[in-house]
Amino acid sequence: MNPPDLSHNHYQVDNTHPHIILADEPDRSMLMRLVIACPAGLYQLQADGSLRFDVHGCLECGVCRLLCGETTLARWSYPEAGYGVEFRFG
Ligand code: SF4
Repeated sequence: MNPPDLSHNHYQVDNTHPHIILADEPDRSMLMRLVIACPAGLYQLQADGSLRFDVHGCLECGVCRLLCGETTLARWSYPEAGYGVEFRFG
């Protein structure tokens, strides 16, 4: 079975109020869980060992919220009305 093609989805990101914000000093082991678990691959480990996170493309599935607490994610909320993911199939 092929993975879903997310390229058809449309995202409207609220750059002034991102719905997910990483904590200042997140737990490293928790971040590694997010790298593996995020279905959109938004938590990416860089070659220098740092972590890159881009909220653009978030599916609002809540997996990262369920996996870790406020020590890793300073904020997790659904986007404001008019922002977020618009699922498009086909
Ligand atoms: S809500 Fe889902 S898609 Fe969005 S960052 Fe968290 S795990 Fe990834």
